[in-house]
Amino acid sequence: MGRILSRGLLALGLALAMGSAAQARPDPARMNAGELAAFTLALPKGGELHNHISGAAFPEDLLAWAVADGLCVDIQALALTGPCQPSDTLKPAAKVLADDVLRSAFYDSMTTRHPGFRDRSGHDQFFSAFDRFGATRPERIADMMAGVLNGLARQNTFYLEAMVTPQGFATRARGSQAGWKGGDLKAQKAALEALGLDDLVKAAMAGTDTMEQRTRAILKCDTSTPEPGCAVTVRYLVQTIRVGPPEQTFAQIAMGVALVRKDPRWVGLQLVAPEDSPQALQYYDLHMAMFDLLTDHGRLAPVALHAGELTLKFATPEALSDHIAKAVRVAGAHRIGHGVDLPGEAGARALAAEMAAKGILVEVNLTSNAHILELGKETHPYGWFRQTGVPVSLSTDDAGILRTDLSHEYARAVDYGASYGDLVTSARNAIAFSFLAGEGLWRDPGAYRKPAGACAGQLGQANPRPGPCADLVGSSDKAREQWRYEHLLQTFEAQWG
Ligand SMILES: [Zn+2]
Repeated sequence: MGRILSRGLLALGLALAMGSAAQARPDPARMNAGELAAFTLALPKGGELHNHISGAAFPEDLLAWAVADGLCVDIQALALTGPCQPSDTLKPAAKVLADDVLRSAFYDSMTTRHPGFRDRSGHDQFFSAFDRFGATRPERIADMMAGVLNGLARQNTFYLEAMVTPQGFATRARGSQAGWKGGDLKAQKAALEALGLDDLVKAAMAGTDTMEQRTRAILKCDTSTPEPGCAVTVRYLVQTIRVGPPEQTFAQIAMGVALVRKDPRWVGLQLVAPEDSPQALQYYDLHMAMFDLLTDHGRLAPVALHAGELTLKFATPEALSDHIAKAVRVAGAHRIGHGVDLPGEAGARALAAEMAAKGILVEVNLTSNAHILELGKETHPYGWFRQTGVPVSLSTDDAGILRTDLSHEYARAVDYGASYGDLVTSARNAIAFSFLAGEGLWRDPGAYRKPAGACAGQLGQANPRPGPCADLVGSSDKAREQWRYEHLLQTFEAQWG
């Protein structure tokens, strides 16, 4: 009897903690398209862990900045070029903006919205787009960031882990200066250390200051009318590039580790660029060994890696057999970007079980995978990830090029079979599996049945009670964001329906 009573009380306590005691849970699977769009927009989605800021800009903004910055458009290549010297093929961006046909073609060129544009596959259209807007002035990264932050806040989402490449050219040049030591990574490290990285770390920190100041100015954060994006907490991931000479990638990883250890705004590393490119394939094992050595298997700096963003259309069966396994077991990755080839890797079920047990999350980008890899509802492994217990969180990847946003990713997830509970778990995972500092509010990240003892029975309220819970929320970045999320969720659930 006592046992039944205590279990009943426990269930009630949990229901209260989850903020769902009185309301029936929404059922997005039964909603029509309009209702689902409004629902996923309003739903608090926790945060976003996979967002390349340079790919997040929409072409409407790229063109407006090009006009303001006096850039030209090469109307044959439909690409931005530097300071404008008009000619037969180079037109001022202002003229392109004013010309309905050219403007539309420019937007097609910068995005994946027009399938088969110029006979390119979605994959080639996507990856080549970066070159076509590469002439955008570097300081516009702050404008891009401002757009992303406002966009997330409008979607009731307040944490961002943004992928940015700090001091990319200078760091890769330092790698070239060190030269290649024939694959002896310890010798490589010594050669780089002899040249030093402190100046690059310092420049990266100063660059972060400048970017943040410009972003805050654009968003009017220090005025009486701040824009919504000011309320979003931001941390950065160092983007390292997997193409090009290996000594350059090595230098980027080494500098990234030094930056993460020095500047708390930078919380982890990523490895980007097409995983199916010849150099990415050729150096894959080498890159994993570099991460292992330079991060001490993820202990010196947390690592999230793009891995398994492959299908047979883009890579050989051999390449499809082990990239995620090596990212997890060799490099020490804490998270995997995309991971869609997981079911096809050797020993896939054991690997999935290992990832579930270790809490290695897959950042799932459904629209990206549909446009670039041609993986749709019938073929995407999103359902299998959930079935095998691999933690997942939905994200946009490159929202501007793919013309999506986080709310649309959540709506697409429903179309792929996600329940309301799956959506809430994705949102909670976006904070629990983030690289934010501090202890979390959950003892069971991924399951969310056991709140940390200090805050048990309080989650969902506006403010923690003074005492151990308030102390935890006040001292831990992660707990603070989780606290904010649970209150947003409780408020949403009380209002919806
Ligand atoms: Zn990505």
